[in-house]
Amino acid sequence: MRYLVLILGALLAAGAVAFAQEPTPAPAPTPTPVATETPVPAGTPTFEEPVTEPSVPPDFAAIQWRQSQSKGSWARKGRLVRGVMLPELGEDFFTWDPIFNRIPNREWRRYGTDRLIRTVLTVIHQFRMEHDSAQRVGIMDLSRTHGGKFGREYGGLGHASHQNGLDIDILYPRKDGTEARPTKPSQVDRVLAQDLVDRFVAAGAIKVFVGPKLKLKGPKNVVVPLIYHDDHLHVRVR
Ligand SMILES: [Zn+2]
Repeated sequence: MRYLVLILGALLAAGAVAFAQEPTPAPAPTPTPVATETPVPAGTPTFEEPVTEPSVPPDFAAIQWRQSQSKGSWARKGRLVRGVMLPELGEDFFTWDPIFNRIPNREWRRYGTDRLIRTVLTVIHQFRMEHDSAQRVGIMDLSRTHGGKFGREYGGLGHASHQNGLDIDILYPRKDGTEARPTKPSQVDRVLAQDLVDRFVAAGAIKVFVGPKLKLKGPKNVVVPLIYHDDHLHVRVR
């Protein structure tokens, strides 16, 4: 019995010592200031990084993308396979019927290759992000649903080109900010128009036809003054 008491006593004493020797938690390390240049491992989200990629135009979401094929040439035996339809309205653009002079343009006049649609929407989205007050950009004819001839029989002067989904007519922005076709060159905002031309050239357009009266500039073999282009620019991509 005495032994038991002794053992119990010894155990309790050992426990008390053990408890007393429990290491006190180390003080929290003082945070060291992180330099802004510190590389962040790939895939690590940071608070500064928005969840959505800002360079993707919001209008992409409304489009039924498919891989288009452009056949023949712009102005001869052109065809468009699996063309992509531009919606009638978007956050950055409106469409304009060049025959009835109204919003929107008719559906069968709004087909292009996926690459053309992607290029145009990217350019005008960046254009509008950098010009806070800029009106939406007006878009007129692209190609017909399956491409092919797009001449006078489809209204107005018709198009010699616009046959294979690579051409698009874009209204110059107006000085008064109205979302409509300019009816004379003096209504065109030439600063914004030149900026649009520059952006299409930078995006790889192979031709940009512009109005002879507007004196818009660019690389000689790409930006070409052409009659009937004082209210819109005509962009052609590869
Ligand atoms: Zn055109």
